[in-house]
Amino acid sequence: MSNSILVVGGGFSGLTAALEAAEVGYEVFIVEKTPFLGGRVMQLSKYFPKLCPPSCGLEIQYQRIRNNPKIKFFTQATVQAVKGEAGNYTVKVAIKPRHTAPYSADLGLLASSLEGESTSEFDFGLAKRKPLYLSVPFAFPNRYVLDKEALTKADELKVGRSVAVDMNEAAREIELEVGSIVLATGWKPYDVTRLTNLGAGQIANCVSNMQLERLAASGGPTGGAIRRPSDGKAPKKVAFVQCAGSRDQNHLNYCSYICCMASLKQATYVREQYPDAEVTVYYIDLRTPGRYDKFMRKVRADEKISLVKGKVAGVEEDAASGDVIVEVEDAVKGEKKKVRYDMVVLATGMRPTLADEKLPVDVPVDEDGFIVGGEDKGIFAAGCAKMPLDVMRSAQSGTSAALQAIQTVKGR
Ligand code: SF4
Repeated sequence: MSNSILVVGGGFSGLTAALEAAEVGYEVFIVEKTPFLGGRVMQLSKYFPKLCPPSCGLEIQYQRIRNNPKIKFFTQATVQAVKGEAGNYTVKVAIKPRHTAPYSADLGLLASSLEGESTSEFDFGLAKRKPLYLSVPFAFPNRYVLDKEALTKADELKVGRSVAVDMNEAAREIELEVGSIVLATGWKPYDVTRLTNLGAGQIANCVSNMQLERLAASGGPTGGAIRRPSDGKAPKKVAFVQCAGSRDQNHLNYCSYICCMASLKQATYVREQYPDAEVTVYYIDLRTPGRYDKFMRKVRADEKISLVKGKVAGVEEDAASGDVIVEVEDAVKGEKKKVRYDMVVLATGMRPTLADEKLPVDVPVDEDGFIVGGEDKGIFAAGCAKMPLDVMRSAQSGTSAALQAIQTVKGR
């Protein structure tokens, strides 16, 4: 029997669950599949409720992890097999090699001298990344990761000479004994290219809400300047298209909860950068739960931001100018119209990671991929693995999962 706890997923809810359990004395293992902890929040420019940059919340979490010997974490790690029952699980974990020294070496100069480049998943395709990289300057662990596949022959010679790079590091497998499991596997943005009528993936200046976060982020591909991807121009007229993929039987058959607030927040990003810019948000319903209603009223008071109830039927590109033409039916005025914008942002919904990626853990998921059980086996879902949530509620859900996990292992 084990009173240790496994947390699968190192995003905000997973980190919260791990810290809550470790800080009352339980041994916790975090298994994170990417090279860095922090999850989706790291990709945002600012997040609710305080609209601070991700570093302000995450650095505190990282500090707490550094100071707590009860937490061990594994990055580039995935769960391969789970055997046992509540109180007594054996978990097999595969760990990919990072190929860099197990300490924080500054490999920035070497990284920038490399020729190889890959599309940056972290920047949602808006930029390229080098084969040796950190996701963000405050990344944790603060260790570069080497993508060997992206190296050119010349790069191989260069990195091979560095004492902080180990080209021969091998993959390994470990076994963990735990009594309870928290699944904080998170979410990914809905694949906008499936929204063919909205031009996603075909029209350069039609971006997703997460792409806009990267454009607005100071560590993003434009250094925080919101520019049109096609020509780098500052947009003067921007439209937001709500429910892009959500509340649609053919795509996500539920409300993604946070994308109304995300668009209102992003409207303020545009207005702060460009005082003359006009923003229109086309919505079916505006959902601003609880205290967020106050933020909506603040946005509504800006005379250059229009909130228009209307369903967007289609989005086209004017190839000559790169402008984006939005075809919309204004539900209040009852008129159909086509309006030209410099840029369009699709309020893309949340899809639980487990909708596409299966875990070797016996937990029930609903038809959308959200976890809907497992408690009787000592397995608890946290954050957006359970339902669409904002960061604050994800953290609360992490705390709740930690308490349940503790109840499972307590006294074993
Ligand atoms: Fe649509 Fe708003 Fe719900 Fe997102 S939060 S799915 S934009 S109603």
